[in-house]
Amino acid sequence: MAESVELPGRLAILPFRNQVLLPGAFIRIRCTSPTSVKLVEQELWQREEKGLIGIVPVRDAAEMTSMDSVLSQGVGSESGERSTKVQINTSDAHKVDGKSHSEVIHWHKRGVAARALHLSRGVEKPSGRVTYIVVLEGLCRFNVEELSTRGPYYTAKVSTLEVTKAEMEQVEQDPEFVTLSRQFKATAMELISVLEQKQKTGGRIKVLLETLPLHKLADIFVFSFEMSLEEQLSMLDSVDPKVRLSKATELVDRHLQSIRVAEKITQKVEGQLSKSQKEFLLRQQMRAIKEELGDNDDDEDDLAALERKMQSAGMPSNIWKHAQREFRRLKKMQPQQPGYNSSRVYLELLADLPWQKAGEEQELDLKAAKDCLDSDHYGLVKVKQRIIEYLAVRKLKPDARGPVLCFVGPPGVGKTSLASSIAAALGRKFVRISLGGVKDEADIRGHRRTYIGSMPGRLIDGLKRVGVCNPVMLLDEIDKTGSDVRGDPASALLEVLDPEQNQSFNDHYLNVPYDLSKVIFVATANRAQPIPPPLLDRMEVIELPGYTAEEKLRIAMQHLIPRVLDQHGLNSEYLQIPEAMVKLVIQRYTREAGVRNLERNLAALARAAAVRVAEQEQAVSVSKGAHKLASPLLDNRLAEGAEMEMEVLPMGVNNNEISNTFKISSLLVVDEAMLEKVLGPPRFDDREAADRVATPGVSVGLVWTTFGGEVQFVEATAMVGNGELHLTGQLGDVIKESAQIALTWVRARAADLKLAAAEETNLLQGRDIHIHFPAGAVPKDGPSAGVTLVTALVSLFSQKSVRADTAMTGEMTLRGLVLPVGGIKDKILAAHRHGIKRVILPERNLKDLVEVPAPVLSSLEILLAKRMEDVLEHAFDGGAPWRQHSKL
Ligand code: ADP
Repeated sequence: MAESVELPGRLAILPFRNQVLLPGAFIRIRCTSPTSVKLVEQELWQREEKGLIGIVPVRDAAEMTSMDSVLSQGVGSESGERSTKVQINTSDAHKVDGKSHSEVIHWHKRGVAARALHLSRGVEKPSGRVTYIVVLEGLCRFNVEELSTRGPYYTAKVSTLEVTKAEMEQVEQDPEFVTLSRQFKATAMELISVLEQKQKTGGRIKVLLETLPLHKLADIFVFSFEMSLEEQLSMLDSVDPKVRLSKATELVDRHLQSIRVAEKITQKVEGQLSKSQKEFLLRQQMRAIKEELGDNDDDEDDLAALERKMQSAGMPSNIWKHAQREFRRLKKMQPQQPGYNSSRVYLELLADLPWQKAGEEQELDLKAAKDCLDSDHYGLVKVKQRIIEYLAVRKLKPDARGPVLCFVGPPGVGKTSLASSIAAALGRKFVRISLGGVKDEADIRGHRRTYIGSMPGRLIDGLKRVGVCNPVMLLDEIDKTGSDVRGDPASALLEVLDPEQNQSFNDHYLNVPYDLSKVIFVATANRAQPIPPPLLDRMEVIELPGYTAEEKLRIAMQHLIPRVLDQHGLNSEYLQIPEAMVKLVIQRYTREAGVRNLERNLAALARAAAVRVAEQEQAVSVSKGAHKLASPLLDNRLAEGAEMEMEVLPMGVNNNEISNTFKISSLLVVDEAMLEKVLGPPRFDDREAADRVATPGVSVGLVWTTFGGEVQFVEATAMVGNGELHLTGQLGDVIKESAQIALTWVRARAADLKLAAAEETNLLQGRDIHIHFPAGAVPKDGPSAGVTLVTALVSLFSQKSVRADTAMTGEMTLRGLVLPVGGIKDKILAAHRHGIKRVILPERNLKDLVEVPAPVLSSLEILLAKRMEDVLEHAFDGGAPWRQHSKL
């Protein structure tokens, strides 16, 4: 609050248009006009000792009311002072605050000296105009004696209007003043308490009321409430403290009254409002009751919305007609009527399907597509080359009816991700439809609407989900569809993949043809063999046989680890998985053709690390005080909208010091101990084969399963019985026959093999044979276990163990010829994974070895067999057992 002020004889004047500043009040103004900017610059900004400026209200002619004369006469005459109007016609030369006016501007004769409490300068872009924001405090009243319009801004000769201290002391003794003070204080208190009730404010003013001299407070009071310009001007003119107090009491009282009146009105309005609210509530209840009764008017609106949606769906004209017919039927139905809902759901589907809406296709850039494939996938050179060829053909002939690509390979070799890369390269949306276990044709084609709970097929559903008619659609696990009494999904797929037929694909539920020709289909399968030949005929099979340990290592280092770290909000500053550890994960914890389990195990390590990092972050922020941690984990939490304060580093703590300690202590390098702790004890080791074949009667075979190549042990044992053959281990018919053939062959050759003393000796005399294929949960079939079965039986009868480092595959005829089998590459990769050193293959499979990666081939000894004897020769240590005499 202003203490007594030494007023200079001349002041720079800032005119306030239709606004009054009173002593004791603060105001924040923005100066933009050239004159005011100049004034602030010269009088306030550039001066070291900030001076005073004068604020004088000016009014447009339009603002002048009849009140003016009353006020100027009334107030002025009472105190013997008069508010004088200085009229300046600004149209000749001057502007007030940058605005030129042709009408008369009225200067008030009195103003208030003010000082700047705060100044800030800004430059507006792009104009470069300088502006100032000034916070001013009103100090004391003055009289404008003479206004000068020379210079860049107004100046005025002024004389103070404040009463001196001695004069004030005298006034304070005046009983009239004391009564007035009391009156003012009572009114002011009343106003404050009303305001407190209303807005819970006024606390500050209450304090002021207790501490400030009342005649000064009168100004502040009037200024803080919304008073009219006239009222404020009359306040400015009230120089005599007594006059000021009575004026203020009158104004505050008037304000109080107006608040009371306003409150009364509000109450009345609130009464009415609650009536309307009651109505609203009742209406809501009524709506709920109607809904319960199925008598809902809202359906009207819903149906209108549905119709609008249908109109904008872009249906072909014949389908639009069909939809309209259905819609008319729906409109006639009552919502509770049977069929209403199903009809509605059906129309919703028609409206939602992308009949014409196509995703924007980019101009295909083969180089970019290649880069995209390369950056997402390691190796797979041939596969990527084939995809590029496929894309190139599409580029040259966009409507080419080329074959459908079908990626065939074990799980986790990147089939799905290659397909999604194709979509990315083409700039199309990607949708995956799982066909695994689909036995019902209706899954593809939908159920007819006459069925309760009928639905569209998976294709139409997928298109609805993806929302465009030209996505890349992945038919996942196309080999897992089977057929039974409910129809043949494969034949429906045949129609889907046939470019001649799929222009009008008929979904039973949809019941109108849908054009699938813009969809690009890509399929995946674990094996090509179960795919029905006509379907296979439409597809081009691209095989992805699985990865070598070295390839897996590269995939893990280049793709999986960065991705896994990213998914867990980590980076290499927090977790490092050295190559040696990844190798151990590959050898000891995964034995798969793909990399899915590897990715899972790496994710488990990342999870463990994330927990540790998160714990440490807490420790740092608690122990070191507040600190903005730029960790991705926290960023992630922030991104999820979780609470996270912007913390400020406490004074005196070095920023680097904290982040260094943090980084060093949080970097986690995976070691063997951590592997065991997180992933458990090793699941596989290289000694498995040696342990298992230690007893005679066990041989090591190579088989093909849906998970790629596998090493399969075959166990045979003999017991007292009467010559029967028992087989266990989830076997198919073919493998059962192979076992029969193997036993027959061994019995027939028993003498030659020196398994029996003489030809007439029956090997099965008084015994039963039991052959078991362990890993009971995995169904096994196929002829390629022939040689393995024979070897197990020979080992049993000769009581000689087979070599633990040798695995074999091959079909055998009854006469002992070894026939070629499939899946050689996968089987050899599996042998390599299991640490097998020698592989016995049918001689005619020699040609398949070109597909096997060279590093794998060079680490294995490949032994070729033409006849069963060759196999036995290689399978036993020191050659075939018939070279020695059988002990049996
Ligand atoms: P699939 O469909 O064959 O079962 P996915 O496509 O789902 O296998 O692949 C499993 C995971 O392995 C994915 O995260 C995939 O990106 C990754 N992956 C597979 N092969 C590669 C590769 N050659 N390079 C990089 N990542 C790969």
